Amino acid sequence: MQKKIICIVCPRGCHITAEKTDNGILVQGNACKRGYDFAVLEMTAPKRSLTTTVRTVFPQFPVIPVRTDTELPKELLLDAMRILDNILVDKKVKMHDIIIKDILGTGCNIIASSDLPDLTIERENR
Ligand code: SF4
Repeated sequence: MQKKIICIVCPRGCHITAEKTDNGILVQGNACKRGYDFAVLEMTAPKRSLTTTVRTVFPQFPVIPVRTDTELPKELLLDAMRILDNILVDKKVKMHDIIIKDILGTGCNIIASSDLPDLTIERENR
């Protein structure tokens, strides 16, 4: 079966068609090799980055943005979101600090994508 894919590797957004054949995967519409590789991965083992927020215990900053440091298998994104739903950050973190190591045994870490300000100083200034 033919699958239509919009390449997300670069902003050009090529419209690609990919189809499994007896000889492998036929890819058309890609302007470069990276698009070919993306289409093949989409047909075999699609992966995605995950960007979201997790809650904190600090009323001044109730959520902090987080993301994956590599890509997760697409079929695990919902499971990862369920885990992140139950996370509560209770200490100061800096950008790129690991919030969850090796989520779902994938080797992928969930990391902070911004600093959580020094809340000790915030409290002292009040
Ligand atoms: S196929 Fe190549 S040029 Fe086209 S969107 Fe993908 S990476 Fe960009």
